[in-house]
Amino acid sequence: MSRTLCPNCQRPDKACICAFTADTANDIHVVVLQHPSEVSQTKGTIALLAKSLRSCQVVIGENFSEDKCFLQVMSHYHPVLLYPGEHAKILNNEGIAQLTNASNKPLAVKDKPICLVVLDGTWKKAYRMFMLSDNLQQLPQVCLPDYLANAGQYHIRKVAKKNALSSLEASCYALALLENSCDSSEVSPENAGKYQLLLNKFKEFNQFQMSFRPSPKDSREEI
Ligand SMILES: [Zn+2]
Repeated sequence: MSRTLCPNCQRPDKACICAFTADTANDIHVVVLQHPSEVSQTKGTIALLAKSLRSCQVVIGENFSEDKCFLQVMSHYHPVLLYPGEHAKILNNEGIAQLTNASNKPLAVKDKPICLVVLDGTWKKAYRMFMLSDNLQQLPQVCLPDYLANAGQYHIRKVAKKNALSSLEASCYALALLENSCDSSEVSPENAGKYQLLLNKFKEFNQFQMSFRPSPKDSREEI
């Protein structure tokens, strides 16, 4: 049985995500490290993020210690890992200033531009990627302030924990905070600067995906 695929997003016409993308000129490059099990996950949000951001790359794998693509990223950028680890710096004015040791330009550290590294997988898989990859453990970690971390709109997958934002939302908020070098307290779920359009489109995307949901019992998934 043949299905027609959208030539742009390569999904079946019925599930095409092109209407939900929002062309967004991000200043800080985004590197998504995607667990192989997320690649075919049609409910995943990274496809939408990667199609919307002008500067974004997706690297698939589990252990990135020797990954050529990621080693290249490490040599061109000063990567910061969006990961709520014990030593993560909260992305508020103070945390951003500490991250760069500079008062007003959080976009670069020692001549290298910052890039934001995001892990895409369930919590368990993201943890595994982190533990397997020595180079990820060396990166400075950042996390979202609580008021944003708990503001998720992601209803497609059952959200089992606090802090369970979709990768798309977490990335948009982190970019808005990092790029809005003047005052990070201005960033909110209703006011995420140039990322707001994408966040709004994402809400529509959620509703669209919900319309495919077969029955409540099928919606239980590991986060
Ligand atoms: Zn499409």
